[in-house]
Amino acid sequence: MRKASITRNRILSLVAVLMLSVTVGCNQSNKLEDTSVEKSPQLQEAASTPVAQPTKIKVVTTFLPIYLFTKAVAGDAAEVEILVSPGTEVHEYQATPDNVKAIATADVLVKNGLGIEEFLADTIKNAQNSKLKQIDASTGIKPLNEISPVEKAAKTETDHDHAEGNPHVWLDPVLVKQQVTNIRDGLIAADPANKAKYEANASAYIQELENLNTEFQQTLQKTPNCTFITFHDAYPYLAQRYNLKQVAVVQIPEDQLSPTDVQNTIKTVKKYNVKALFSEPGVDNKLLTSLSQDLKLTLRTLDSLETGEKEPQYYFKAMKANLQTLETACR
Ligand SMILES: [Zn+2]
Repeated sequence: MRKASITRNRILSLVAVLMLSVTVGCNQSNKLEDTSVEKSPQLQEAASTPVAQPTKIKVVTTFLPIYLFTKAVAGDAAEVEILVSPGTEVHEYQATPDNVKAIATADVLVKNGLGIEEFLADTIKNAQNSKLKQIDASTGIKPLNEISPVEKAAKTETDHDHAEGNPHVWLDPVLVKQQVTNIRDGLIAADPANKAKYEANASAYIQELENLNTEFQQTLQKTPNCTFITFHDAYPYLAQRYNLKQVAVVQIPEDQLSPTDVQNTIKTVKKYNVKALFSEPGVDNKLLTSLSQDLKLTLRTLDSLETGEKEPQYYFKAMKANLQTLETACR
């Protein structure tokens, strides 16, 4: 039921033309009516037991990957919350009054940056929290712009301002090391008393990221220049890191693919010797399925981690599943 509504909303929001586009960003929007906003345990306690001096700082994160990395660094030393509940689309997210409240009472806010959290500027303004410290997890990361896709669009949709580059840096484990380091340094600055904990937690997570990077390198070096098509421009950092090629982003139309659209896509697939067409978890789309049949490509699933389990180890679980998918597809 939830699956169906994700798919429907996503399709409706996509441009009604199939094209090979240079869009750097995403047109997906699956705004579920998810009203389950997390309440801080501190706030709940405060209502019943008025005294309770908070001993932990309250850290608010924007969406799933940033929550996972912050939670990994914070461990039990801080309260970590998420603004965009998993299952809700981040790209075109609209803030709720509870989001404003969460920021109003937070000590620290952690964001991915690079323009993905479009809802944030106004939400922070409305929260009027002059003590709020902000951590931009992507500080120091050089964003990619048009590395992918290489195929030019017949018609370019410009519903997004991509001045800040492609935001999907969390899908490259090496860049995540930088994000974790930024989060660690920001938490230490806000809460020096727990410096040792933040350092130890960050270093353990960074070690796991290094192991993951090695695993990706060793596996994918066997199939260099593996070329793929996706409908969500989420993988240029991953592709650049491991010598893959995301050549085109296929935008899913609302109803029918025209024979010309299909022919153009088939031409691209032949030209670049495309090995794979990737969908995402929770997306069950008839057009993608029929396109994959027309293209004689197996439709596989890559996880962009914009939704998933709220547990720091989920990053490794999902990325290892992605690696397995890539290995199979690129063979
Ligand atoms: Zn995305």
